[in-house]
Amino acid sequence: MAEVTPELVAKIVSDVISEIQLTSIPIGISNRHIHLSEADFQRLFPGEELRPMKALKQPGEFAAEQTVTIVGSKGEQSRVRILGPFRKNSQVEISMTDTRTLGIPAPVRLSGNLADAAEVTVKNGENQITFKGCIVAKRHIHMSFKDMERFRIQAGDVVKVRIQSDGRSTIFEDVEIRPGETFILEMHVDTDEANAANIKPDTVASLVRE
Ligand SMILES: [Zn+2]
Repeated sequence: MAEVTPELVAKIVSDVISEIQLTSIPIGISNRHIHLSEADFQRLFPGEELRPMKALKQPGEFAAEQTVTIVGSKGEQSRVRILGPFRKNSQVEISMTDTRTLGIPAPVRLSGNLADAAEVTVKNGENQITFKGCIVAKRHIHMSFKDMERFRIQAGDVVKVRIQSDGRSTIFEDVEIRPGETFILEMHVDTDEANAANIKPDTVASLVRE
């Protein structure tokens, strides 16, 4: 049996730390926001350019300077940030709490799946559009193909994730994998999910293997 030297202990500790770093997934908390098609943006902001304000973690994605007001049957919410670049279809993403306070019965759907999305009205001053495109975004993990290999994940897998937090450690099921060549490893949850699990900016997720 190998002698337990300080060197051996140091090596084991460092192996464990790198294993933890290798398997931990950073978490991004998404506040309510809107993606717009170029045509819808022009309806709301005639003659304007979409002005990037802050780059997001995923390559090419940004928060814009411009915001809109979203309107439901029970209320409205101003200062909802536009995220760029433009998309093919406009899409509003709100939390489950927002669905109640605004009166917009949006279903939980993966971004881009708008088949039975709720109708929503979006305003900028006097300009407004109404379309079927409001969802509560389904939690997901952005993964490059390299990371998918590392985590032994296949396209289409739905995973279970453990969050270790101060007093609200949580296991989330129904976590979708969003594969993309240039994606940066990051789990996306909304503000309701983040609050439920007491997720802070430095909280990480780890996959639960059965
Ligand atoms: Zn995302």
